[in-house]
Amino acid sequence: MLSGWREATARRPWRISAKLLIISSVVTVIGFSAICVNVMLDMRRGEEALARQTLENLATSIDADISRNIDIYDLSLKAVANNMLLPEINTVSKPIRQLILFDHATTAKHFGAIQVFDADGNLAIDASTLDPVPDNRGSEEYFTVHRNNPNAGLFISRPMLFRGAYSIVLSRRLSDTDGGFMGVVAGSIRFTYFHELFERLSLDPEDTITVLKRDRTIMMRRPFDLDIIGKNLNDRQAWKADNLRAGGSFTGQGPVDPTARLYVRSGETGPLFVVAGKPLSTVFALWQKEAVRIGAVVLVLALFVLGSAIVLAREIGRRADAESKLEEMATTDALTGLRNRRKFDHVIDIEWRRAMRQKTQVALLMIDADHFKAYNDTFGHQAGDQVLVGIAICISDSVHRAGDCAARYGGEEFAVLLPNTSATDAFRIAETIRAKVLGWSDGGAGSTVSCGIASLAPTSGMDWAILVAAADKALYAAKAGGRNQSVVASLPKLSLVA
Ligand code: GH3
Ligand code: MG
Ligand code: MG
Repeated sequence: MLSGWREATARRPWRISAKLLIISSVVTVIGFSAICVNVMLDMRRGEEALARQTLENLATSIDADISRNIDIYDLSLKAVANNMLLPEINTVSKPIRQLILFDHATTAKHFGAIQVFDADGNLAIDASTLDPVPDNRGSEEYFTVHRNNPNAGLFISRPMLFRGAYSIVLSRRLSDTDGGFMGVVAGSIRFTYFHELFERLSLDPEDTITVLKRDRTIMMRRPFDLDIIGKNLNDRQAWKADNLRAGGSFTGQGPVDPTARLYVRSGETGPLFVVAGKPLSTVFALWQKEAVRIGAVVLVLALFVLGSAIVLAREIGRRADAESKLEEMATTDALTGLRNRRKFDHVIDIEWRRAMRQKTQVALLMIDADHFKAYNDTFGHQAGDQVLVGIAICISDSVHRAGDCAARYGGEEFAVLLPNTSATDAFRIAETIRAKVLGWSDGGAGSTVSCGIASLAPTSGMDWAILVAAADKALYAAKAGGRNQSVVASLPKLSLVA
């Protein structure tokens, strides 16, 4: 037990420092990685916020441009509607009527000519010609809306082919002074307006601009796709009403293609609203590059730290093993494998003091090979060595308790320290050893041992040399008594020695 304890205390600091090294390296690596991940996530959030702001600005400025143009065009429609109420309007000549009605009308290139339809939907007046080709639009939504609802105000139609060009039609009701339905004044904004507006912006091919009506009908989209224009989004999973509130944003798949984008909606300004979208791959392109770069550096550093820690820990382990081997070698007798004298002196010193503290007995066996000189002379030194090894085996076979210490004390002399053992028990063990040696050597000359036994409970001031001397004395007695026997030192003898 004692030697085990000694070894453990010798090796434990190494083991602990190797473990600590590994643990602290792992904790350091985890800590740095966590900080790194946090910083990178912050950077990602920053990129997203920047993209969201840019898209919001874009959507809002497009929205503002569209709203302004619709307002301008609506002013013209309102002017026509008001002037149609003039009593003279049906009495003046056609050129004068055109002048009165359309003089202030906006004539930008993307605006279609304003037309006035009577209460039956027949084309009555056309800003572009004095003699319009007869036409009836009584079934168009932009007409029926006003016929059925006096308060429809400005109606914006779904995108449609209007006078040979894709347009959206803006219309207002013509009411007489009593509010009766007189017809509809209508005009159009051609898609070319949107195309030109979008071309002015520097957009990536994958960026999308979608112009929607309040009822979520797609009025225009970039990239241009006729299939999606005029469709209503209400029945689509993506871009649900919740996903795109005014000024809000939404990350994910859009309603048209599977590309995941960041979509941002313009504020609630005009009758239409705009959603600007940017692919997430573009939004995070820079961040991704940076993340991969930083991640790679951190990974390399982490591997380096962990690798170094493992190498160092192994080195520490190797040193610990080497040290314990050295310690083992320094305390072991080379021939017999028992403890050597140096170790025995150390152990007896510790056990003596322990017994003193705990007031227990310590027993000592001194074992000496009989007539060994003669044996050597007869069979040679090497054969003598073999006998010493045999005796050592017999001793260690008989001594089992963890605290016991069997040692080669000198040439053909052995010592066995038995802590917490009475003289009677020690005598029994000595007899076991003696019998074993006898049995092993089959009674051959020079292969018996004599054994001196002493056991005492040390008191303060006593030196362990007393115990050794007592056991030695008993050994002499055994020799004198004819050898191949065990003799216990008697207490009176002990007190004499003391
Ligand atoms: P006794 O019964 O009185 O002890 O007689 P002995 O001959 O054993 O006693 P003695 O002290 O006179 O002789 C000890 C001998 O042990 C001397 C030496 O040749 C032998 N010896 C001492 N160490 C070794 C060793 O390491 N190997 C061998 N083979 N012999 C040893
Ligand atoms: Mg001797
Ligand atoms: Mg001897």
